[in-house]
Amino acid sequence: MKLLLTGGCILLVALAIAILNYPVDTQEPYSENLSYTGLVVDEKSDLRYWSHMPLTYNYSNEDECYPLRINRTEWALNEIEKLTESQVSFVHTEGKADISFVCSKNSLVNLADRTETLGEAEVEYSLRSPRIMSAKIYLYSGIPQGCDYPDVEIHEILHAFGEKHNTHPQSVMNVVQWRCLKGINTSVDGVIFDRLKYTY
Ligand SMILES: [Zn+2]
Repeated sequence: MKLLLTGGCILLVALAIAILNYPVDTQEPYSENLSYTGLVVDEKSDLRYWSHMPLTYNYSNEDECYPLRINRTEWALNEIEKLTESQVSFVHTEGKADISFVCSKNSLVNLADRTETLGEAEVEYSLRSPRIMSAKIYLYSGIPQGCDYPDVEIHEILHAFGEKHNTHPQSVMNVVQWRCLKGINTSVDGVIFDRLKYTY
């Protein structure tokens, strides 16, 4: 909304700056204190869990999803299944889903710090139990060439399991810089998938 208020010229300048600086930081607005339902997520969000498997997922606006985006998302879901030895699994549905992917063909550029947000995750937690109720994952355009591995998608999906950011440069949950991982480094992130395997 801020972009709209500042007018078209500034938006064009910002986009030009973003293109010049590409690839850019991925300072996502996702925060452990943010939830779209207004519920406050506590610091123990990694102790939260889904009550069932498999989880259903859908694309809430498939018309807005580039085919590449769909491919990467499906790849990401498969990777998580593989890395958890199918203890975590996903099934597509056309109806109401546990995890809803929302695509955008527009980039999300932050004027203040010239960064581009590649994805965001909104997780709804139960107030009465440690259960995760639902998640919405926003995937914005902006996939640098040569970065084929779906690390952005895996990163956002892991948020939907309560996973937090860290600062390890090789971690899929690192938020400070563009990751462009070629795969999951299990000596760094194995602990994440071991936890998921153990939980489910
Ligand atoms: Zn994140």
